[in-house]
Amino acid sequence: MFILPIEYEFFLTACLMIVVILLASGWILKLEQIRKLNKTVSDFRKSLDEMDEQAKLIVRTDLELSKTHEELDKRINGLYALQKISQDISKTLNHNEIFRRLSQEHIQEIGFQKAIIFAADASAGPRLEHQTGFSEENAGEIETEFAGKRIFNAVKERKTTFSSISKTPETGQISGIIGAITRLESFVVSPIVRKNGFYGFILLGNPSNETPLTEGDEELVAILATQIGQALDNAELFESAYSQHQELEKKVTARTKELSDTLSELKIVSKRKTDFVSAVSHELRTPLTSIKGYASILLSEKLGELPAQIKERLGKINKHSDELTHLVNDLLDIARIESGRFEMKLEPVCLAHTAESVVDLLGVQLKEKSATVEMNFPKELSSALADKTQIPRVFINLIGNAVKFIPPAGAIKISAFESAEAIQVNISDNGIGMSPEDAGRIFEEFYRVDNTINQKVKGTGLGLTLVKNIIQAHQGKIWVESRPNQGSTFSFILPKAK
Ligand code: ADP
Repeated sequence: MFILPIEYEFFLTACLMIVVILLASGWILKLEQIRKLNKTVSDFRKSLDEMDEQAKLIVRTDLELSKTHEELDKRINGLYALQKISQDISKTLNHNEIFRRLSQEHIQEIGFQKAIIFAADASAGPRLEHQTGFSEENAGEIETEFAGKRIFNAVKERKTTFSSISKTPETGQISGIIGAITRLESFVVSPIVRKNGFYGFILLGNPSNETPLTEGDEELVAILATQIGQALDNAELFESAYSQHQELEKKVTARTKELSDTLSELKIVSKRKTDFVSAVSHELRTPLTSIKGYASILLSEKLGELPAQIKERLGKINKHSDELTHLVNDLLDIARIESGRFEMKLEPVCLAHTAESVVDLLGVQLKEKSATVEMNFPKELSSALADKTQIPRVFINLIGNAVKFIPPAGAIKISAFESAEAIQVNISDNGIGMSPEDAGRIFEEFYRVDNTINQKVKGTGLGLTLVKNIIQAHQGKIWVESRPNQGSTFSFILPKAK
């Protein structure tokens, strides 16, 4: 046997151990690498799983999105169609026409094939107001079923919109019955409410569940029901306003006819009166002229001297004849102006001059009363477009009356001003005045206020009627403002000469 020296043996053992250690650490390194690789593989697998999950999520989200998109499209189309229907039904103010406008085409546009509307008829129970999409026979059956009131009342009591997809137990039961009666698989029922309460309900539906109902459909039908309610209210309001208007128009026509008949009668009566007054006045004028003529001749004593007593009586005859002639002339003038036979000759007239000459003319009466007259006419006052023979009569009557009704040393003021088209003259006095009732009547023929002055001074009560007629024949206006014991102001307006 070959024996190695001990050092050599030791050396070999040491080498062997080193080799073993090296091998062992190599294995350990490899094992470590394998473990790391395994971890990477498992990480990779996990990432793959996560990616798979995300991919699934994306697909799911995409599906949901396209569904939502579809629903949104349906909703927009439905709303658009609803807006069209609403516009259509709100354009009519006729009750029946509102329902006629809920056509099959309109109903389809909001996603339904059939529609039925029931109204609560207080006396005869539920009444089928309108239907579209149902056969006559089917509609008849439905009406009979609803006439039983049970379903109708159940709908009425629910007060809110519900559909075949409503899950609550009460609606579930009603829905079941309605589905069976109408042979519809999906439907929405909404009450139609008006200002004065429940009117009826609308039901929109489809025979199959091909396009499932959504909450959006319920909202759509609820809006439509509200619109119908409002359109019905508007129609009723219009109908009542229209019938009231018709009624009023009838009344106005009847009254207008009555008035125009009365006016025609009045015109006839007034014409007869004018003709009569005119004829009588004419008849009176001739003998009056003779009486006055004879009295004047006798008074002149050309036929011989007269005793004082007879002279005095003849004087009275003369005076009364003058008064009567004056009255007859006034009556004739009034009649002529009223009948339109008197034509005004219109020309520029200076009112300041006219007023001045009338004040001159009445000088004696003014002096007798120690009256003062204050005239206030603007220097540049335009001329009036008037008949220069008639306007002095207006001033004579108005200033003459003022003198008559003022106290001794009373005051009269005459003023004028102009506007764009007319001239206004005011004649004021601080005389006896009058009550508002009398002021409203003094332009009537023969009207005289019952006062102390009128009891003493004679008058005809025709002066102001004549004045009013003259002013009106000029397209002017006359009025009085007066208070008892505080005086009066007579004002008139005449057109301005251009
Ligand atoms: P007459 O003067 O002849 O009575 P008028 O027609 O001129 O008739 O007047 C009618 C009535 O109006 C007068 O009787 C008088 O009562 C009232 N009246 C007219 N002018 C005045 C006045 N300036 N002040 C008070 N009363 C007046």
